[in-house]
Amino acid sequence: MARIGVFGGTFDPIHYGHLAAAVNARHAAGLDRVLLVVANLPWQKEGDRDLTSAVARFGLVREAVVGVAGLEASDIEIIRGGTSYTIDTLVELREKSAEDEYFLIVGADAAAGITSWERCEDLPKFARLVVVNRPGHPKPSNIGEFDSPIFAEIPSLAISSTDIRQRVADGRPLEYLLPPGAVEYIRRNGLYRVGSRLYSE
Ligand code: ATP
Ligand code: MG
Repeated sequence: MARIGVFGGTFDPIHYGHLAAAVNARHAAGLDRVLLVVANLPWQKEGDRDLTSAVARFGLVREAVVGVAGLEASDIEIIRGGTSYTIDTLVELREKSAEDEYFLIVGADAAAGITSWERCEDLPKFARLVVVNRPGHPKPSNIGEFDSPIFAEIPSLAISSTDIRQRVADGRPLEYLLPPGAVEYIRRNGLYRVGSRLYSE
């Protein structure tokens, strides 16, 4: 029986905030491994803006976790296709490996909205909740049916994918906000530049 962290995100792109959250959640909850689950179509972001293709976002995550023990890029939601709901992912993981124990990892901003997630009342049947602090977002007061969450503390990292995309558009530096392999992937594929081929599909 393994203890598996499920850390979902759009990861457009992945950055050190995500990675610090993942490794510290792994430590705080005593997890064997953490899956960084790349959303295919994040329902919360539909219609907001053009997303980078899921394949490119997965490529970024794969680059970012190279050589880091216990972190794995997961394309389970990309393979399933369609709109990505965490509950479907937890059901699928449990079907594949029923003996494992699952932990749903969220930053404080995501935790604050968890009661609006698809079939949120079912989530606690599949996973315990692990909450990671994020600057500007208090500890969540309403986590629905979940038992008391495990808190994973990280130094406040005011890094966001939104800021990184804006930096590319403005020609500002990306270094030290995300791993060098991910910076290189963005440059090589011309991501986040206006008119980028991979910016949307
Ligand atoms: P965007 O700006 O596009 O919304 P983001 O940086 O918020 O991107 P997401 O892919 O939306 O990244 O977030 C995925 C998960 O990572 C969420 O649970 C979110 O709370 C968490 N997270 C993102 N950035 C941080 C951070 N700097 N510190 C802690 N948790 C974070
Ligand atoms: Mg976000």
